[in-house]
Amino acid sequence: MADILIKNGLVLTMDKGMLQGEVIQDGAVAVEGNRIVDIGATKEVEQAHKGSERVIDAEKKVVMPGFVITHTHMPYVLGHNMPVDVSQLKSFWDMLQKMGWEWLEDITTRDGIYAATRYAAMKMLKSGTTTVCELVEGPGAIPGALNSSARAIDEVGIRAQVGYEVTERVPGVSILERMDQKNAEKAFEENLAFLNKYPKGNGGRIEGRLGVHTAYTNSAETLKRAREIAEDSGCGIEIHTAEIPRQFLVEKYGKSAPMILEETGLLGPDVIAAHCIDLDDTDLEILSRNGVNVAHTPMTNSLGGNGVARVPDMLDKGMNVTLGHDCFFTLDTSEYLRYAYLVHKAHRANPILLPPFQAIDMAIGNGARAMGLEKEIGSLEKGKKADILVLDPDSPSPVTPASVMSWFTMTFKGSDVQHVIVDGRLVVSDRRMTTVDEEEVRRHCLDEAKALWRRNGISI
Ligand SMILES: [Zn+2]
Repeated sequence: MADILIKNGLVLTMDKGMLQGEVIQDGAVAVEGNRIVDIGATKEVEQAHKGSERVIDAEKKVVMPGFVITHTHMPYVLGHNMPVDVSQLKSFWDMLQKMGWEWLEDITTRDGIYAATRYAAMKMLKSGTTTVCELVEGPGAIPGALNSSARAIDEVGIRAQVGYEVTERVPGVSILERMDQKNAEKAFEENLAFLNKYPKGNGGRIEGRLGVHTAYTNSAETLKRAREIAEDSGCGIEIHTAEIPRQFLVEKYGKSAPMILEETGLLGPDVIAAHCIDLDDTDLEILSRNGVNVAHTPMTNSLGGNGVARVPDMLDKGMNVTLGHDCFFTLDTSEYLRYAYLVHKAHRANPILLPPFQAIDMAIGNGARAMGLEKEIGSLEKGKKADILVLDPDSPSPVTPASVMSWFTMTFKGSDVQHVIVDGRLVVSDRRMTTVDEEEVRRHCLDEAKALWRRNGISI
């Protein structure tokens, strides 16, 4: 007898990735506690788990592991559509300093983090993202920013690794003028307290991961200290890498971001490097030889005019490329998946680049591996954590074992996600959250967004 039995579905185990993983027609998955205890043909699994507590009939539906998004900033949703003076935004540098820092991060509060994180986590769950790697920012919200984030994540029911971004940047002061190591120290303290509470491998849904802003907003000493903490705690690091023009770092330090990061010993297979856009061959080789995981974020890179990451080259080198999104735009997983699938074909005028299976693997198995969670999530296998989606495709054509891969990149939408199980718990049932009051979450987020906008002098 299982707690949850999902039967009669088209089950995609993705145990060897999307292309070679097992596809079970008329398949079933049994869940007990927070683990998958059985998977196979409906007949056998149903027989073995007669009288299961809850039975989900997945006839004509797709059953698969949840999506894993490796780069998010959930509090950013408060700034969505903020009517700011765009004439001040002439470059990515302006966008980072104004939109990213002055108008958003520097005035973020703990209440804002809590409200926005609940909203963003809810939206992501409802469109199939079950795990995120979340980087919290907000110098005015520490200490306590990570606790606010974790409280929201805990309530909504998503799985997450969470860290606070270490930076020596001084709010309101150009980084070219002055930085202050004391700010990095405060951020380390925030991370260390959280890592103590949510250590790596604690068995729960929430783990700490050390967040570091960039190579250009931290000194070599701070980057070395980050590596020490990651070694001591085994938590891994998330860092923005090469999202600004390479030339900026070369002029300032005589080196590129990967060169600085390798020199300070920060790089390693426990690092998720977000963006990774402006890289030359040497930089790419550095990231590759250090086993660094890449969080590819094509939509925000397009928004910032940063260019297109060399993902086809990274894949050729065997690098682990995953999907991130910074929490801009709709939070609907399908949009990021489709954009990543399309942009490289357009950019290099080559339709054979990034076939569907590679785009899907980026958003599931590769993501799990990057977060060091490949033994627990990223595929449907006996003994793994039960993070499972049941999709009800609104498709103009049949979704079959032969067509399902193409369906993901052609027509799949977040609204196709009918049920979501995270850690054995049904958190979305029939497209509605079971854990929180959706309307209350939305209203609270709206109130906090208004408060943030007012802090920017916008009357509302
Ligand atoms: Zn980011």
